[in-house]
Amino acid sequence: MQHSDILSRFGLTSSGAGLTARSPVDGATLATVAETTPSQVSDIVANAARAFEAWRSVPAPRRGELVRLLGEELRAAKEDLGRLVSLEAGKIYQEGLGEVQEMIDICDFAVGLSRQLYGLTIASERPGHSMRETWHPAGPCLVISAFNFPVAVWSWNAALALVCGDPVVWKPSEKTPLTAAACQVIFDRAVARFGDAPANLSQLVQGGREIGEALVAHPGFPIVSATGSTRMGREVAKVVAERFGRSILELGGNNAMIVAPSADLDMALRAILFSAVGTCGQRCTTLRRLIVHRSVKDQLLPRLKAAYASVPIGSPLESGVLMGPLVDADAFKAMQRALETAKAEGGTVTGGERTLTDRFPDAYYVTPAIVEMPAQTDVVRHETFAPILYVLTYDTLEEAIALQNAVPQGLSSCIFSTDVRETERFLSAAGSDCGIANVNIGPSGAEIGGAFGGEKETGGGRESGSDSWKAYMRRQTATVNYSSALPLAQGIKFEL
Ligand code: NAD
Repeated sequence: MQHSDILSRFGLTSSGAGLTARSPVDGATLATVAETTPSQVSDIVANAARAFEAWRSVPAPRRGELVRLLGEELRAAKEDLGRLVSLEAGKIYQEGLGEVQEMIDICDFAVGLSRQLYGLTIASERPGHSMRETWHPAGPCLVISAFNFPVAVWSWNAALALVCGDPVVWKPSEKTPLTAAACQVIFDRAVARFGDAPANLSQLVQGGREIGEALVAHPGFPIVSATGSTRMGREVAKVVAERFGRSILELGGNNAMIVAPSADLDMALRAILFSAVGTCGQRCTTLRRLIVHRSVKDQLLPRLKAAYASVPIGSPLESGVLMGPLVDADAFKAMQRALETAKAEGGTVTGGERTLTDRFPDAYYVTPAIVEMPAQTDVVRHETFAPILYVLTYDTLEEAIALQNAVPQGLSSCIFSTDVRETERFLSAAGSDCGIANVNIGPSGAEIGGAFGGEKETGGGRESGSDSWKAYMRRQTATVNYSSALPLAQGIKFEL
């Protein structure tokens, strides 16, 4: 299929000027997309405020109906959107489809949730009084997203925010404007079927950091959900805190796997491969550190190197390929810098070279790298968004857990072990310090049913399942006096 055919499925055409959308697959220009200007921000905020006034009073199950329709439209567009994700973000088509499936799953979840935004009744200490806690819509939600999950992150936020009564303004990555435009087309299809939705429930802002900064600073967004690098989160958090807004931060990860002596090495091998090499190492949950027990290292590592050498690398749109390109030249340079630093810090590097330059001179394909490190040095503690797997060894589980936790990030972690004492220890309060801790599963590929997010420099936010919805609402405690007296709490007497 031609690139232009995929765009035409969503009625997308080139604007002639503005943001240039390039494909990491071959470096080709896909289209140009009109950029939002800072002068448009106040209108966008005013539109969102008007949409909020109407939407907050629509019963939540009816709001859920819009999200149900969005899920249906996503089902209908799954192949087209999956292909566009593959084309614009460079992940393999299977992962593009998986990303769209994740959007469908979160819509299903949010529809159920729309009938379960439960509050509490609370026992009052005063006679003739009742207390309750209610969750109300909070206001327009600003969503800032990264290039590597160009559509799923919007849906995690939008599906929940919409059933919670909040309109959404979305600033996607400047590297993936077309997938975002396609999502807006799909959303508009759902709105058309819904019938009486207020205008501007979801607005799209195209542009880079500058327009992102203008939006983040605006008090019209009580909630800012920002996904991207720790650098970005640090800036956004300050600005939002300054105006007492609420941030949901989903930032960088530096995820580890501990491979214990009792591990099923066949399973561990498969899990390492998918989580370290998948999406060309460009997932926030990518496996970056392998902490392997000294007694099994010599069994595991040669098999891992052999598997790495046989990973099919190529155009992510072709079947059979498991690893596509890096997103751009900057990502390639950052990878090479990290490998040089690792060598200087005592590492032994296997792989990591540029490849397929004959076929794709303007794209950045690499072989995945394994780096055996003598210790957890600075470069290992840093997230490099590329397929580099650092290998460290350990002797005791305490040491392994300490290594796993001794990085600034706290997103995802896992242990491969068949010893229940070890696995429970790993999951205990004295175990992994991450938001996600898995046993006999790699660190990536989370399901939407659980709360997703991490601690420390990962930002502390939670999105998606469990009770993450509460971050999109405001909590109100109400006390009702149905007696004819006016007793004060704590027994205080205050009478003339
Ligand atoms: P990035 O930080 O460069 O950009 C992310 C988004 O933030 C973009 O839309 C960008 O325009 C915007 N932005 C940048 N600076 C801003 C500012 N000061 N104010 C407002 N907006 C600003 O990240 P990236 O390179 O697109 O993505 C890779 C990073 O994202 C990695 O660190 C990865 O771990 C992280 N990530 C985290 C999660 C998670 O859920 N924890 C998910 C996906 C990606």
